Amino acid sequence: MRQLYINGTWTASVSGEGIDVVNPATEEIIDRVPAGAPGDVDAAASAARAAFRSWSGTAAEERGKLLATASDLLRQRADDIARVIATDMGAPYGFALKVQTLLPATVLAGYAHLAESHPRERRVGNSLILKEPVGVVGAITPWNYPLHQIVCKVAPALAAGCTVVLKPSEVAPLAAYALAEIFHEIGLPPGVFNLVSGAGPVVGEAIASHPAVDMVSFTGSTLAGRRVAALASESVKKVALELGGKSANLILPGADLAAAVKVGVANAFVNSGQTCSALSRMIVHRDDYDQAVRLAVEAARKYTVGDPFDEGTRLGPLVSARQRDRVVRYINRGQEEGARLVAGGTETDHERGFYIEPTVFAGVEPGMVIEQEEIFGPVLSIIPFMSVDQAVTIADGTPYGLAGAVWGETEQAAIAVARRLRTGQVSINGGAFNPQAPFGGYKQSGIGRELGEEGLEEYFETKALQL
Ligand code: NAD
Repeated sequence: MRQLYINGTWTASVSGEGIDVVNPATEEIIDRVPAGAPGDVDAAASAARAAFRSWSGTAAEERGKLLATASDLLRQRADDIARVIATDMGAPYGFALKVQTLLPATVLAGYAHLAESHPRERRVGNSLILKEPVGVVGAITPWNYPLHQIVCKVAPALAAGCTVVLKPSEVAPLAAYALAEIFHEIGLPPGVFNLVSGAGPVVGEAIASHPAVDMVSFTGSTLAGRRVAALASESVKKVALELGGKSANLILPGADLAAAVKVGVANAFVNSGQTCSALSRMIVHRDDYDQAVRLAVEAARKYTVGDPFDEGTRLGPLVSARQRDRVVRYINRGQEEGARLVAGGTETDHERGFYIEPTVFAGVEPGMVIEQEEIFGPVLSIIPFMSVDQAVTIADGTPYGLAGAVWGETEQAAIAVARRLRTGQVSINGGAFNPQAPFGGYKQSGIGRELGEEGLEEYFETKALQL
């Protein structure tokens, strides 16, 4: 069994218990991590509290250098870490390398730079406004981008001068251990970064309610986010929430339909659909609808589903039996609601592993459960619209507002519609993900932003000195 990382030391959990880590492609147990207990959170939060004064007082340049070294080590070990992620969460190896591992290395390097370059003081009239680190940060993260989601919190928190207690997902926790090893090796002072693995309702809730924790940054489901926010409110902690999504790919008349459908399908299925910003709803004008469905089915059929280490694989398994069963329930529900299954479904040729075929539903109507709820699997719903106003209403018609895409005849036409959407990110005519742009949700997709300068500012308190 692995150990927790508390106050610069690898330590056994006081619980003595563990959680098995399962390879979703083979269903074999591949590792075991400690099932942390509230006593472990207490030790980690106390260590982080004790380390805060000196860490927040170090020169920003020094913090930046440590983060840059961590980024270099992550890059050097990218192959091994990508293998770990492909094995414990099932992402195809190439994707695990490029997106799940090298993207976090880039994000770390970005915050190494911002640690120094982001301005922390300004003058307003007779006041000097100071940005100061918020204190001890409790970070709680999900399994779908297990390293990226951690780095999106830990890198800006450390850059700001905060100390951290991290609880990674118990479903895919191994990348967090690789990151803790890197932080240990680069000589991050004891207590600055602490890792307590374990179950959400035990370790996560202990973090959210611990008096020594000043801020909780949570990424995960809206349900668990609500609980974390409620617990954190008891001691009036600062809260940042990155929650679910049901994002729309809105294709306007006159857009390049073939490109819009191809890119949209790829986005909906990436990471086996286990992406919070997945464009899981394609909204297409009635005149283009049948053609869009045909193109989407063609694109879905080209996906090879299989072992994450096979070279041709584009879709790995879902992360767990629980997740697979949840997606199967939604696919059945879609059929019961009268949507038309035009690709994929619940059948699969794989005897082992938690596989789902890339699935497309046509004839989906606003208000259906599969149109409203986050499925978190490779399931795309295609919905027709008659007018732009109706398209915007459908796109905004869920409790979420995390991401989206608009395709138009011109960039200006797409931007004009994107401005109307109540959502945190919009890709215009296929615009690529930018790790320096703020990421986060409107409505029930969350509070606050990650990445870029906005992502750093989450970890500041503001002080005004009147001169
Ligand atoms: P989850 O909510 O089940 O778990 C997320 C984390 O919260 C895990 O570490 C879990 O152990 C912990 N947790 C669970 N219950 C808790 C509780 N009562 N108190 C404290 N912590 C608790 O989510 P998941 O299944 O790991 O991840 C999938 C969800 O995450 C999806 O809804 C997805 O949209 C969302 N997500 C959002 C973003 C974003 O940036 N907006 C990014 C990735 C994933």
